Amino acid sequence: MGTHPLLIEGKPVVDAIYRDLRIAIEQLAAHGVVPCLATVLVGDDAASATYVRMKANACKKLGMQSQRVHLPAETTTQQLLQVIADLNNNPSVHGILLQHPVPDQIDERAAFDAIAPEKDVDGVTSVGFGRMTYQVPAYVSCTPQAILTMLDHYRIPMAGKHAVVVGRSAILGKPVAMQLLNRDATVTICHSKTVDLPAHLERADIVVAAVGKPRFIQGSWLKQGVVVMDAGYNPGNVGDADFESCVLRASAITPVPGGVGPVTIATLLQHTVRAAVAQTK
Ligand code: NAP
Repeated sequence: MGTHPLLIEGKPVVDAIYRDLRIAIEQLAAHGVVPCLATVLVGDDAASATYVRMKANACKKLGMQSQRVHLPAETTTQQLLQVIADLNNNPSVHGILLQHPVPDQIDERAAFDAIAPEKDVDGVTSVGFGRMTYQVPAYVSCTPQAILTMLDHYRIPMAGKHAVVVGRSAILGKPVAMQLLNRDATVTICHSKTVDLPAHLERADIVVAAVGKPRFIQGSWLKQGVVVMDAGYNPGNVGDADFESCVLRASAITPVPGGVGPVTIATLLQHTVRAAVAQTK
């Protein structure tokens, strides 16, 4: 009370990641290799198109290459699997990002799992999830990894803390919960069928908001001193936590925008460069 909470901003973390990446990219250039991320977008969802464009622009800014594949909304699973197989076999592509969500007629899990593990820089394959869970080196899904990198960068301890993750999606809630567990947090995972969400949240030392609902998590549900990591990104640039009320309870909190989002993109590039290094050896 009375003290200002720490703002867990993305920029210092992004700057630190990009500093290291520039060095690695120069070293690769000496071997004639430019790291290349292939982005696959199926259909015309405006938000997805924006995300893909932001990722490609970030590649360009760092002197990396990106190869954009844009497929029509009526693409079949078989056609998408063929595109992914071609990218797997293309030695100039080091990482593959299939933008989620894909249209309903496509088996998204089959498409994700078709990505070669060594090119799975977005951490979406079942193999990647299993390896991460068992603490075998793997590319972790980018938003969960961004959240962990931010907690480490700001020296926020996880061991022994009670972390409550709100959301259980394959790309966010589940992997971030496993990562927090691997860092010795005691983890509660909440979802749409959870009964009395505030009762879980009031015991949280760390809250991860991954709900997909604007300003959903209320400060009145949280205890004083909580750390709030808001992965949400909703129209109007608002997160899944109600910043104005949560900031009154938090000892540390991510802003939206300018928090987890930019670190997620930096993480994707970091994984792509790592993949390029691994594939160059
Ligand atoms: P998602 O697939 O829609 O999953 C949302 C999760 O929230 C589900 O597990 C759902 O439970 C749960 N949920 C829904 N309503 C709830 C309620 N009333 N109480 C408790 N839990 C509830 O979303 P996502 O892909 O994980 O994304 C979550 C958020 O993160 C979104 O705001 C998205 O924009 C953002 N995001 C940001 C980045 C980034 O780069 N920063 C990347 C990806 C996503 P059920 O499983 O029971 O349905």
